[in-house]
Amino acid sequence: MTPEQEQAWRAKLEALRDALEQEHSSLTEASRPVELSPSIGRLTRMDALQQQQMSLAHRDRIRNRLQAISGALARLDAGSFGECLACGGDIEPRRLEARPEAFLCLDCQKNKG
Ligand SMILES: [Zn+2]
Repeated sequence: MTPEQEQAWRAKLEALRDALEQEHSSLTEASRPVELSPSIGRLTRMDALQQQQMSLAHRDRIRNRLQAISGALARLDAGSFGECLACGGDIEPRRLEARPEAFLCLDCQKNKG
C-alpha cells in the first residue's frame, strides 16, 4: 500500500469513527431508563420499553463497529491493514470500500458463521 492510500484509509476510518461516536452519544440520550410511572398507559410503557431495547441493540452494534474501526486503525499503523486476520490473504477491495473496518475476507467471514 502506498503512503497516499494509507492516508486515505486513515481519513476514511477516522471520519467513520467520528460519525459513529456521534450517533452513539445521541443513542445514549435516547436509551435512558424508561420512567415506570403509573400515569402512563401500559401500552405506551411497552412501546417505550421496546424502543429502548431497540436503541440499546443499535448502540451495541455501533460499539462493536467502533471497536473494529480502532482495530483497523491499529492494523494501518502496523502495516497489515487489508489483510484477512484468519487466512492472511487480501480482503476484497470492494468489501473494504463498503466496510473499511472489515478484518476477514469474504470466504473466512462465510466460514465463520
Ligand atoms: Zn480469509
